[in-house]
Amino acid sequence: VKEIILANAPTGLPVIEYGKNNSTFALREVELPSLKEDQVLLQTIFLSNDPAQRGWIQKDQISERGYVPPILPGDRVRAGNIAKVLKSTSSLIKEGTLVQSISGWVEQQVVDAKQVTPLPDMPGFSPSIFFGALGGTGMTAYFGLKDVCKFKEGQSIIVSGAAGATGSAVVQLAKHVFKASRVIGIAGSEEKCEWVKKIGADVALNYKSPTFVNDLIEAAKPSYVDCYFDNVGGSILNACLRVVKRYGRIAACGAISSYNGDRSQSTLDNWFEIITNRLTVQGFIIFDFLDRRDEAIQVLSSAVKEGKFSASDGETLVRSSFEKVPEVWMRLFRGENTGKLVTQIADL
Ligand code: NDP
Repeated sequence: VKEIILANAPTGLPVIEYGKNNSTFALREVELPSLKEDQVLLQTIFLSNDPAQRGWIQKDQISERGYVPPILPGDRVRAGNIAKVLKSTSSLIKEGTLVQSISGWVEQQVVDAKQVTPLPDMPGFSPSIFFGALGGTGMTAYFGLKDVCKFKEGQSIIVSGAAGATGSAVVQLAKHVFKASRVIGIAGSEEKCEWVKKIGADVALNYKSPTFVNDLIEAAKPSYVDCYFDNVGGSILNACLRVVKRYGRIAACGAISSYNGDRSQSTLDNWFEIITNRLTVQGFIIFDFLDRRDEAIQVLSSAVKEGKFSASDGETLVRSSFEKVPEVWMRLFRGENTGKLVTQIADL
């Protein structure tokens, strides 16, 4: 079977083509070992595409201080998987069960049964919902709003990356579950802005428009916003610093605008706003909230069932050959997804 490993850590945009001197990834054939006791043979069906993977494949002073160890050349690329159990020697997991794990870019593999989590049935929904609405995406949006923004009914919020996985979840939860008075979404095209309004934003702004900063200020006036949920960093964060209310909060969730550039360079000309307006900026990593998973899943699954949080609408599912997995992942950085970007490499 095949797996995809890191060949060379990229310095800028990953080089997706295989077999060059500076290719970021390489394909490798691996032999499957026979199963020992309490092991399972997995067939990967779905792969989660996460901007964070770009940070994991870069080893520098920033990743040394990161929240997971960097992936080194020769290592398999880490990713969230949903897989089908083809064979099992575990009494707890039957053949045919769908399981979730962080196995990475691999077609099939043998792992200890305790390394995988069987997925509950969600009739009528694709299992990839456990990456999106009922997975890391939904939980990031929920805890980001509840614990980091400390969001209260009737407050207002700006969300960047609003047509992406996390951002579209924040828009929907803020509006329909946390009952925001006003949600302003920021996304990279007019088409995406239309969709962001459809799912719950009162206003959606295209950050590629030449009038973006003024449009943002106008949209936030007269009272400005209680919270900014930041998925992108960079110049959009810089602009948003100007429109958060006095004593407002910024949930620093992601900084995708800098992931393929020099992460040590960031020009926040409006930093002074944090001082004058006594803003609180709090970074967070979803891993810190995993012990409260049940709480989030309860809220999120009720919201899905009540139609307040769309699971299927908020997903871009790409059927792909295994070789093209890195190419699909790169769509994240070109804005070629709405909602959660999921790759499917085999039939269910
Ligand atoms: P998304 O689906 O939001 O990511 C892809 C989207 O990001 C694209 O569709 C594109 O939308 C936007 N984007 C890409 N490049 C840029 C750019 N240069 N400037 C502005 N926007 C850009 O993925 P996720 O929801 O998984 O992740 C969103 C953010 O949240 C990431 O920064 C990620 O690292 C972070 N994150 C953090 C977590 C945590 O625990 N703190 C957990 C999960 C995610 P557009 O067309 O609008 O530009």
